[in-house]
Amino acid sequence: MTPAELKALVRTIPDFPKAGIQFRDITTLIGHGPGFAATIEWLAREISGAEAIAGMEARGFIFGAAVAARLELPFIPIRKPGKLPCRVIGVDYELEYGVDRLEMDPQSIAQGQAVAIVDDLLATGGTAAAATELLRNAGGLVTRAAFVIDLPELGGREKLAERSVDVSALMN
Ligand code: 5GP
Repeated sequence: MTPAELKALVRTIPDFPKAGIQFRDITTLIGHGPGFAATIEWLAREISGAEAIAGMEARGFIFGAAVAARLELPFIPIRKPGKLPCRVIGVDYELEYGVDRLEMDPQSIAQGQAVAIVDDLLATGGTAAAATELLRNAGGLVTRAAFVIDLPELGGREKLAERSVDVSALMN
């Protein structure tokens, strides 16, 4: 399938989760078997060379875990607070209103392991920048992140470039 055909599988929901936001809904993309498979193939090609894949809860799990299995690589879940049963390390990061937190199992990474980040969508880059910091604190080498969708006007690519993370995205 072509990138244009894959883009046509993403549904836009107006005013979700609040008025004025155009939510890009990937439910319709993953609900299309060949479309989901082609998306995973594309992401897997983009992050070839990685030794592990990290994905952020929750939609990053859908794409990240599938890419990791496709490449026979370990998958590292980056979770919302209080979800992991083991000892965790965490990082707080700023949202437009308030703060949020991501956590991971520090033992899920070997020192110096090359970890690629996968998520559904890049907006301001705040989530992926926080995941980068967290993975680096655990000893990971983070230089690449791949997304299904980039919203380029929100500056996520530049924010990650400042942190020496190269971004690729299947569609804008
Ligand atoms: P950022 O931290 O880059 O500003 O926002 C990206 C995060 O918010 C991603 O984890 C993504 O799942 C979520 N997100 C923000 N807006 C959208 C949207 O329109 N569609 C989807 N699918 N996810 C979004």
